[in-house]
Amino acid sequence: MDPKVEQFMSGIKAKNPAQPEFHQAVHEVAESLVPFIEENPKYKHAKVLERIAEPERVIIFRVPWIDDMGEIQINRGFRVEMNSAIGPYKGGLRFHPTVNLGILKFLAFEQVLKNSLTTLPMGGGKGGSDFDPKGKTDNEVMHFCQSFMTELSRHIGPETDVPAGDIGVGGREIGFLFGQYKRIRNEFTGVLTGKAIEWGGSLIRPEATGYGAVYFAEEMLQTKGDSLKGKTCIVSGSGNVAQYTTEKINEFGGKVVTLSDSGGFIYDPKGIDAERLAWAMELKNIRRGRISEYAEKFGCEYHEGERPWGIKGDAAFPSATENEINEEDARKLIVNGCKVISEGANMPSTPGAIEVYMESKILYGPGKAANAGGVAVSGLEMTQNSMRLPWTREEVDARLQTIMKSIHETCVKFGTEKDGYINYVKGANIGGFVKVADSMLAQGAV
Ligand code: NDP
Repeated sequence: MDPKVEQFMSGIKAKNPAQPEFHQAVHEVAESLVPFIEENPKYKHAKVLERIAEPERVIIFRVPWIDDMGEIQINRGFRVEMNSAIGPYKGGLRFHPTVNLGILKFLAFEQVLKNSLTTLPMGGGKGGSDFDPKGKTDNEVMHFCQSFMTELSRHIGPETDVPAGDIGVGGREIGFLFGQYKRIRNEFTGVLTGKAIEWGGSLIRPEATGYGAVYFAEEMLQTKGDSLKGKTCIVSGSGNVAQYTTEKINEFGGKVVTLSDSGGFIYDPKGIDAERLAWAMELKNIRRGRISEYAEKFGCEYHEGERPWGIKGDAAFPSATENEINEEDARKLIVNGCKVISEGANMPSTPGAIEVYMESKILYGPGKAANAGGVAVSGLEMTQNSMRLPWTREEVDARLQTIMKSIHETCVKFGTEKDGYINYVKGANIGGFVKVADSMLAQGAV
């Protein structure tokens, strides 16, 4: 390891003990940024890297609520307000039993650079709770959301901090959260994104992350004169991002053969076409069932407790969660002929997996670039809320495509190496950093 990176990381680890995901995210960025900062001493003297690794504010709070049996339950709520140099804090809320401060700090840190890459004026944040919506009734989810927002409402606002969804937080949860905010503050504002279209949402927002990851893959392939048409694609997850990734791959003429959840993955060699996808979406979004039921319904393989990376495919779209592809999985993907990886999820590849991608020089789009379409359309939702005017589906989709192209160009600009290989990790890290860093320099030591 570069001794300067090592020195920087030992400071981060000492200050943030027992937060391995945060260390991992900062380390990956520091590897790109430390050499860049050495060449640009203005950032070094102003300690910009040290400052962006320290949240501006962290809020941790108790979330008491009463379940359907009349019993009191206690969860922990968080909001990490990481950086507001270029706009109000912006980033999703995650409801999952694994949520802790270290995971939210990793997500908030990534979000700062991702939001900068979108070209829109958004700072970075992330929040959530260790609440598990799985197996809860709608009534219980509502009571939890109301209690969560009762505290969170003091800290957020359309000009301050604008949360959205993430794992475990979809349209249902955003509705309950928005209702409670409105009731407490007596104002109808764009305080959350991912709202339903009837009350201030943007068309294409549910689709945006998945569509964006596919647009990004297509941009990467085009640098090689290739496209997704006719490609076999491995998708993990079966939630919001996985569903719309699958829909867009189908539109581009590719074939998706896998989906997964925390129980295992299904392998459907015939391809998850529009009709099968509609069934899977009903299963996951309405009936809230397990992906194993897909295999029973369509008579295909279900691999319990496994991830799909051993299946042969040309393209991979990890769309479930962090660290879901390790070094061994990455090797399997490469051996099976995978040419492009576009990360819908945040940090789904371990450092060992990323090393394998780099060694084999495949097209690798890291999450902060490839999945930025979601927050980009959230930014467009904020714009529409401020104007109090909705845009058409076509207009939002056209803007999303332009933004994904621009993110790709930024990665090419900052990430192209001497031999012509495009290092998208380096490109996204430096490209995202420069705007935030210059804004911080202009705003003084704050
Ligand atoms: P959803 O809650 O809609 O879906 C998550 C999916 O991932 C589910 O299939 C879930 O399975 C699976 N999953 C979650 N945790 C695990 C785990 N520990 N092991 C295996 N499978 C798991 O979330 P999203 O689709 O919104 O988010 C997926 C990823 O995309 C996350 O990394 C998120 O941070 C990222 N992302 C999302 C954005 C958005 O706009 N929604 C924007 C940018 C990134 P199960 O149902 O069994 O839990």
